[in-house]
Amino acid sequence: MRYLVLSDIHSNIEALEASVRRAKEAGYEQVVCCGDVVGYGPSPVEVMDMLQELQATIIRGNHDRVISGLDEPTHFNVAARRAVDWTRQQLPVEYQHRLAELRVGPLTVTEKARLVHGSARDEDEYVVTQHDALVNLGLSGPQITFFGHTHEPGVFTRTLYWRPSYESDGTARLRIPSDKVLVNPGSIGQPRDGDPRASFLIWDDTEELFEFHRVEYDVASTQARMREAQLPEFLASRLIFGR
Ligand code: ZN
Repeated sequence: MRYLVLSDIHSNIEALEASVRRAKEAGYEQVVCCGDVVGYGPSPVEVMDMLQELQATIIRGNHDRVISGLDEPTHFNVAARRAVDWTRQQLPVEYQHRLAELRVGPLTVTEKARLVHGSARDEDEYVVTQHDALVNLGLSGPQITFFGHTHEPGVFTRTLYWRPSYESDGTARLRIPSDKVLVNPGSIGQPRDGDPRASFLIWDDTEELFEFHRVEYDVASTQARMREAQLPEFLASRLIFGR
């Protein structure tokens, strides 16, 4: 089976459409998402509609939790908080309910894999360092944990951190290690690893491969719509830098 693994879409429909187009060319059967469907970007309704069309299995992220009204953005910076207010105003009530009803990770998807947003013990935890990874890999769980939240694609094992280095066609492949792994597909809507292209991965559990992808999309048009919506300039301008 080939799974399309998405995370941190953040209301960016241009990036999501370009990614799904590429993923369809590459081939997949099922879609899973590690959360943060909304927040930051200008297209929360369109993104939620598209995920429904794709019949994606989704867990909630911290932005989804806050925008749904289940929590307040007390730990968010000013720009993120303004985006929360804006998104709440844009989303019809039924969409807010759908966000509030998203399942909370960890969510088992197969006997080999589960989804979390930050980590299995805390959806708000940032797994950034080898130490963060070691602590989490020491907890009980299946071989593969897909996570998001940091917006940086990569794979942690107990002994190493692998960052994709992409071929000219925007792909990077890794044979799945036999050890336990934490795997981040990167962010669709707001990458922060210095590469502005949308990031996702295809998990091929038959071939035992992680296939990371980067896809260019029309950043200028996303930015123009953010400016029109008067979302914070910082959130719009960072998209070209992938930071
Ligand atoms: Zn996020």
